[in-house]
Amino acid sequence: MNIFQRNAAANLAEKRQQKRDSAQKKFDILTKDAAYSSTRAELFDAVLAARAPSDIEKINKKLSQRVAKLGFSNEELQERNYCKKCQDSGTLFSDGKAVQCGCVKTAIAEAAYGASMTPDTAENSFRGFITEQLISERPELDLTYRMLSSFVEMLDGKGRTPLNYFTVMGATGTGKTLAVSVFFNKLKAEGVFSYFISAATLAQTFSRSVSTYNAAEIADIMSELTSPEVLIVDDLGAETFFDNVTRPKMQEIIEARKEKLTVITTNLSPKQLETRYGERFISRVFDTKKGGKVRLSGADFRLER
Ligand SMILES: [Zn+2]
Repeated sequence: MNIFQRNAAANLAEKRQQKRDSAQKKFDILTKDAAYSSTRAELFDAVLAARAPSDIEKINKKLSQRVAKLGFSNEELQERNYCKKCQDSGTLFSDGKAVQCGCVKTAIAEAAYGASMTPDTAENSFRGFITEQLISERPELDLTYRMLSSFVEMLDGKGRTPLNYFTVMGATGTGKTLAVSVFFNKLKAEGVFSYFISAATLAQTFSRSVSTYNAAEIADIMSELTSPEVLIVDDLGAETFFDNVTRPKMQEIIEARKEKLTVITTNLSPKQLETRYGERFISRVFDTKKGGKVRLSGADFRLER
């Protein structure tokens, strides 16, 4: 299990437990009620004694009335599951095939937002109000954001967009991180399974995966980077570079994500990117049909504080 799946499982387990606890609490209130308890016992006896259905019906009605009097409904007392759709199994069956329930998908997406870290750069220290408004008066950033947003509006649920790679280029301070942070917030708001990672953290993750030599762990790390519908890699080129790790891993991720959307910000030029990550990387990311790019000049970007 990768970290998103592990955290999602833990969160779901907690929510399910809360639901059971609250159901139990209601049941405790009922059983402490003398009238409810005696009617319930009466019902038991009637069923055991196989009394006439009309008698049983009458006692049942009395029991329901007592439940209502105590402020509960029969339906809510039967609700012991957090997710009504899958009864907390996490699995639904469609045409005889097991599919992941929406509650699990949502929990995984939430875990990915939780693991995402928008870096604490100067332009990003507006944490909390990195909003569309912040970039709306900066035409370059606004345009970048709108382009990215339009891809998401076209997501067909399988993570397919007209473009699979989008690179935001420009020098430091041109607002690249800000533009993709606003975009990430939109993805979050819309519940799209997305992960935001800095290239520096990505490089650390790679070195971790190589030092462990643990196939399962390496597979988990790869799935953290390849499973999200949208992956944002911030400041590519700023990470510590290991020729024998960074380049092949970067190529592997880009290759594996060819059906999804990957957004990259970088200070590097296409030529510099090619030198660093290789021709295969470049031909994917800047593919004329599947790759898009925008270069920010910073001309309209002045941050007043
Ligand atoms: Zn469910």
